[in-house]
Amino acid sequence: MLAPVSDRQVLVTGGSGFVGRAVLRELSDRGCTAVASPSSEELDLTQPEDVEALFEKARPDVVLHLAARVGGIGANRERPAQLYLSNLLMGTYVIEAARRFGTPKTVVVGTICSYPKHTPVPFREASLWDGYPEETNAPYGIAKKALLVHAQANRAQYGQNVVYVMPTNLYGPGDKFHPAVSHVIPALIKKCVDAKERGDDEVEIWGTGAASREFLFVDDAASGIVAAAEQYDGAEPVNLGSGREILIRDLAGMIAATVGFEGRLRWDPTQPDGQPRRQLDCTRAAELFGFRAEITFEEGLRRTVDWYLAHREEAEARSA
Ligand code: NAP
Repeated sequence: MLAPVSDRQVLVTGGSGFVGRAVLRELSDRGCTAVASPSSEELDLTQPEDVEALFEKARPDVVLHLAARVGGIGANRERPAQLYLSNLLMGTYVIEAARRFGTPKTVVVGTICSYPKHTPVPFREASLWDGYPEETNAPYGIAKKALLVHAQANRAQYGQNVVYVMPTNLYGPGDKFHPAVSHVIPALIKKCVDAKERGDDEVEIWGTGAASREFLFVDDAASGIVAAAEQYDGAEPVNLGSGREILIRDLAGMIAATVGFEGRLRWDPTQPDGQPRRQLDCTRAAELFGFRAEITFEEGLRRTVDWYLAHREEAEARSA
């Protein structure tokens, strides 16, 4: 159903998270006042009775399902079973509750970790089922991808309006900097800041630096997710990215320069690179709901480093 979110009762799962807080800001900027966003302390979305009670109370017109257990390569290697099961259960119960309660619109946020390991670059949505994901993030990526199948099956059988978007790697203020859960940008920022403060002459970085990634500023992702809620009503998954591919080696150099770390970057090739290349084709998002990333990478990186330096305790607090 196409309608401005400002007129709707909106439920955001995962609203306390990195992306969730950006989505709540975006909703507020668009004049949306009827927003429910309970924290995981109030309820556990892996428990069906909690999800039921949430929908009973919130009675949403629009659900933005962001809640997830996520992490970088380290978390994916240490806790693959937890990442698989919790993401599968949360999404399954939310989609089913939305169906039973007749929720007019649900947006499920997927991930590009669902793409096959060797997807031709730029990744087009049509390639999603062409192979197994990169091994380190396959349990997470496949659990998320199963939610796309669930959404499409419910649309076909029940006419339920669930759309599915796949953001690329996100970064920005509010990201998690604890080493147990951080992704590559916060991990590198923390390493370079710590090394600079200690006066170290080198930092060690996982992998070879030869892999590439695409990064989207979190506020751009939030605006894409809300735009999909307002303007997209289709069965097909949609990429959300910035269109810029960056080698991890170059990324590390940019971060060191932004932070002011002048020592050596020493690569540890015994650690995994993760997926060899990542960059999305975002034609579909542009055509279907006018999505285009606004923040340049240099600007976004500067803002992220500034936020981290001003909020270190908060930034490093979350370890799960
Ligand atoms: P995050 O910061 O870890 O936030 C996850 C949110 O989910 C938190 O609010 C957390 O609540 C909530 N949550 C987790 N388990 C829960 C449970 N059992 N019951 C209720 N709530 C639960 O993650 P994020 O980076 O914002 O990611 C948000 C979404 O974007 C996810 O679906 C993720 O797959 C997707 N995504 C993220 C990225 C990225 O680079 N970050 C890229 C692509 C897609 P607590 O804080 O209270 O635990």
